[in-house]
Amino acid sequence: MTKSSASAKGSRIAGVSATIAEKLARLNLFTDADLLLHLPLRYEDETRLTAIRDALPGVPAQFEVEVVSSEIAYRPRRQLVAHVRDVSDGGGAMVMRFLNFYPSQQKALSPGARLRVFGELRGGFFGDEIIHPRFRVIHGDEPLPDRLTPIYPTTAGLSQTVLRKLIQRALDQASLADTLPETLRRRLAMADFGDSLRFLHQPPPDVSLADIEARHHPAWRRIAFDELLAQQLSLRRAYAARRARGAPVLKGTGQLTGLLLSGLPFQLTGAQQRVWREIAADLNQPHPMARLLQGDVGSGKTVVAALAMLQAVEAGHQAALMAPTEILAEQHYRKLAAWLEPLGIEVAWFAASVKKKARDEWRAKVSRGETPIAVGTHALIEADVEFDRLGLTIVDEQHRFGVQQRLALKKKGQSAHQLTMSATPIPRTLAMSYYADLDVSMLDELPPGRTPVVTKLVAENRRDQVIGRVHDACRAGRQAYWVCPLIEDSEALQLKTAEETHERLAAELPDLNVGLVHGRLKASDKAAVMAAFTRNEIQVLVATTVIEVGVDVPNASLMVIEHAERFGLAQLHQLRGRVGRGSHGSACILLYAPPLGENARARLKVIYENTDGFEIARLDLHLRGPGEFVGSRQSGAPLLRFADLEDTVLVEQARAVAEVLLRDHPEAAAAHTERWLGGKEELLKA
Ligand code: ADP
Ligand code: MG
Repeated sequence: MTKSSASAKGSRIAGVSATIAEKLARLNLFTDADLLLHLPLRYEDETRLTAIRDALPGVPAQFEVEVVSSEIAYRPRRQLVAHVRDVSDGGGAMVMRFLNFYPSQQKALSPGARLRVFGELRGGFFGDEIIHPRFRVIHGDEPLPDRLTPIYPTTAGLSQTVLRKLIQRALDQASLADTLPETLRRRLAMADFGDSLRFLHQPPPDVSLADIEARHHPAWRRIAFDELLAQQLSLRRAYAARRARGAPVLKGTGQLTGLLLSGLPFQLTGAQQRVWREIAADLNQPHPMARLLQGDVGSGKTVVAALAMLQAVEAGHQAALMAPTEILAEQHYRKLAAWLEPLGIEVAWFAASVKKKARDEWRAKVSRGETPIAVGTHALIEADVEFDRLGLTIVDEQHRFGVQQRLALKKKGQSAHQLTMSATPIPRTLAMSYYADLDVSMLDELPPGRTPVVTKLVAENRRDQVIGRVHDACRAGRQAYWVCPLIEDSEALQLKTAEETHERLAAELPDLNVGLVHGRLKASDKAAVMAAFTRNEIQVLVATTVIEVGVDVPNASLMVIEHAERFGLAQLHQLRGRVGRGSHGSACILLYAPPLGENARARLKVIYENTDGFEIARLDLHLRGPGEFVGSRQSGAPLLRFADLEDTVLVEQARAVAEVLLRDHPEAAAAHTERWLGGKEELLKA
């Protein structure tokens, strides 16, 4: 094998050494198409020369100079200093200064050498100077380039020059054919693909750099559109593949669901009725449902889950519900048992704290199909429960499960209908893009009679007043949560803090019972603490974020979060959702340690000013970008590099065009996916 036929990590780029191929792989560049889509971060204008005398401080410019003298100076530290004079009509002189340099650079700067120098001129110790300028020795009359110079994202050991050459070659040799059928392209008023790429890699000098760099240009719009289109094509294909698979038709009779509804102490909200209809219709189909039920904390997802499970039972099938923590799973179990057992429906319970004997019994009954419904933590998977006729699996807060657990669950319910529930609202454009392989239902209405939660931002040094409030609330019969600070990367430290906080609060509130719950407690101890809190035997519950999801104690009306500035927006919103569930006025106190960083300030402002989870999610997306939302999602959705999910119109267009291509132009769809995802599509689905 020759050195130039690079095989490193599946690179298909011709004529590069293994070392370069390995560097390219680090940038995710494996093919010529990848190189084409490796777009500049910014540009430098080397099409013009500026006279040193005319240069504005801090503005990047190019100069043509001659070296007058150069030397290595040792004060204030070792450095290479070259005195140069401008050779253009404008004239002027300056110093080029290098704190790190190679002998080759020193050699290039010998007196008399002619250079093109690019950088920002500043007034310095030595007079006008440029520190670490980019420069190139020129010989004779070299014309100036007629295009702006692209600066690409790169990695250590891969120079701009090498990248530029490879990309230039790809532009010359690889296909830039438009994958959009011409009529569609015109109707969408989209720029041509090849033109857009050539423009972005090598813009002419007369364009507004600010516009391109801010990605406000038709060429960018085209690239962003294509990227969204590739994502849609890949996810919609997965969607279609699922619809081609078979699943039991779970036709409801309305018998059990009707009984449940008439026995509830409340009426479904309009939103609950709507999503229930959507789910019921899916279950009635001969292919597996894959639906995401989104609803803010307290929007009433559990009853919708119960209805879906009853429909499966009506159709003679079983249903399973899995939740990520024992606290949450147990709450589901209690609620479902209370609703369903009066209807004669037994609910099996699987969790680490369930004794082996009981677990074996449940397992036997479930496998014989005698018990139609099973609720549990991942113990449901680990206990190797074999269902007789599993028709529906429901997963609450799926993103909190590990990858292995999700895969195991998927395997268990291969041909079953799937419902995923999430209280972390996903902004609409995100749902339309990254989640395009799912159907999405939104519970966008809270049950009536909730009291809005008042949010307060309180600096840490006023902690005593907060203790006073906790005391007053509990003396008035209410209860409070006290959430301990998040400590990145150290569970041990987090535990220690929680224990100390518990001790301290117990001392400060001697007439109240202060409990402690954290992730390291044995499941049975955790359950005991939660039960005591539910019965108001504990008034103040000190907790780590284990209470973040799903805990429902309506009498708790006060939530204190210490070092709120360390929490993410979704977490704060979830935590705040633990109060305001009863009829009492509720408050959430965010204790923070000043001074706040810019980002923490922005987050706290959002949570202070907003209560609607979807709005918070939208602002969160704006602050952090989509990576954080979908980072844990194992799916065929590559992270978007160019498209901006705040551009709703473009996301919608991409979705519509994907449908058209898949239906009418399958060859265009295939070419487009190949260009954007190449061999990566399968990789992403792993
Ligand atoms: P979440 O969506 O956060 O899981 P839950 O299902 O736990 O919400 O519901 C929160 C509370 O609201 C529960 O006590 C539940 O019984 C109650 N609830 C649900 N739907 C309604 C409704 N339509 N009217 C009144 N209360 C409701
Ligand atoms: Mg819930």
